[in-house]
Amino acid sequence: MTAEELMKMSDEHLLYGNKLYKAVMDHGKGVYLYDTEGKEYLDLVSGIAVNSLGYGNQEFLDALKAQMDKFLHISAYYYNEPVCLAAKELAERAKMDKVFFCNSGTEAIEGSIKVAKKHALLKRQKKNKNLDDDYEVIAMHHSFHGRSMGSLGLTDNAVYQGPFVPGNVRAVFADFNDLEDVKSKITDKTCGIICEVLQGEGGLIEGRKEFFEGLRALCDELDLILIFDEVQCGMGRLGVLFAHELYGVMPDVMALAKAIGNGIPVGAFVMNERCSNLLAPGEHGGTYGGNPLAATAVNTVLKLYDKYDVLANVNRVAPVLEERIQKIIETHPSAIEHRGRGLMQGVRVTVDLTELEKLAFSKGLLFCAAGGDVARFVPALVITEEEISKAMDIFEECLSELEK
Ligand SMILES: *Cc1c(COP(=O)(O)O)cnc(C)c1O
Repeated sequence: MTAEELMKMSDEHLLYGNKLYKAVMDHGKGVYLYDTEGKEYLDLVSGIAVNSLGYGNQEFLDALKAQMDKFLHISAYYYNEPVCLAAKELAERAKMDKVFFCNSGTEAIEGSIKVAKKHALLKRQKKNKNLDDDYEVIAMHHSFHGRSMGSLGLTDNAVYQGPFVPGNVRAVFADFNDLEDVKSKITDKTCGIICEVLQGEGGLIEGRKEFFEGLRALCDELDLILIFDEVQCGMGRLGVLFAHELYGVMPDVMALAKAIGNGIPVGAFVMNERCSNLLAPGEHGGTYGGNPLAATAVNTVLKLYDKYDVLANVNRVAPVLEERIQKIIETHPSAIEHRGRGLMQGVRVTVDLTELEKLAFSKGLLFCAAGGDVARFVPALVITEEEISKAMDIFEECLSELEK
């Protein structure tokens, strides 16, 4: 089928099938994508911060293929080696206690909120308070945590609804990096606080060490659950395996997804000892979570991070990217602010971002937007200095053209 025919089919039958970029992607290798016409694209999107090892990593694919020959899926009723290893590896590396596997970042957040609610509910039980009254989680302005909207409420089974329905968990928003604002939002309904360690979709906004320290102290003092959403900024993207390591502040629950599966859909939430016994057997679950194929992906990602010293690469190339972005800001009036760190960096621009993306696309460079006016670069963590330089050359050329 021709690219034209495929795009027409997509536009007609796929929700949101009508794309900005008129090309059909065919395959990838390393940090490059190729369309059906053979055109090459240097990819600084990497499936939205997912393809941590780049495309077509043979060792990763071989590990998946070996698992595929055994079985893909058996349900969570039975032990299997990949998921046992994945749980141990993640829990140990995070210096936390237990892991729950799911299939996406959204689900990892859902589970994390259930942990926080259960904790609050047990506290209410002790004080003989109304359990069905609302619960609140404090989240941050400019956050992104997913798009689900409540399947448990529709599930007519008291065992599954358990302590989670009724008793709505409402979000209350505070300013990121503003501890006083967070404090002012705390009520006796608050069960926890959730934030990204580096806000992704919101525009690559970094959290401050003192803010995270303050959140930790607040949660300890008031017996609240601190949840870090590391779906985008975790798994090596900031040059440490888990983003919070940069600040020396431990969460009670950490949500992971995206890069953890290198393209196989996996999510997880990791709990410390304080939280790992809160959800009783049956109070949470899922059909696919910890599926042997997905768990093999996690194990292989971690193994290959070690083998290729992926974190060292991030720390080597991230300053190169930052330097280039700073130079671009000095020399281009339409580039006005550097954002982010590690391999989660970007630049705020005053030109039309969609035009910029389309122009870059035509020149074989892929990046995506964040927060409306930030060009976001979240490449594979194995990207080289040369590849970054080449990407920034193209990016600069695009800015120059649009500034004319
Ligand atoms: C992408 C993302 C999510 C949602 O993950 P999905 O896998 O798309 O459900 C949650 N939080 C953050 C910070 C994200 O970047």
